[in-house]
Amino acid sequence: MDCYECHTVERSTTAVATCRECGVALCPGHLHVETKEIHKEAGLGKTTGGIAARRVVCPTCRRAELSV
Ligand SMILES: [Zn+2]
Ligand SMILES: [Zn+2]
Repeated sequence: MDCYECHTVERSTTAVATCRECGVALCPGHLHVETKEIHKEAGLGKTTGGIAARRVVCPTCRRAELSV
């Protein structure tokens, strides 16, 4: 599969991941990898700590999230 973002500007780049939110394919130059610990809910006792979750999003979804 090719990167959707590159496809919109008529380039063809092999995708290495997909956006978790909208599912488009992304090349290394367009994906955003977020590694952060999942927020722990208060009052639910001990949760697994120190392990960061990974999440890949496309530029469009990232912009949308940052604008909230
Ligand atoms: Zn791309
Ligand atoms: Zn997306």
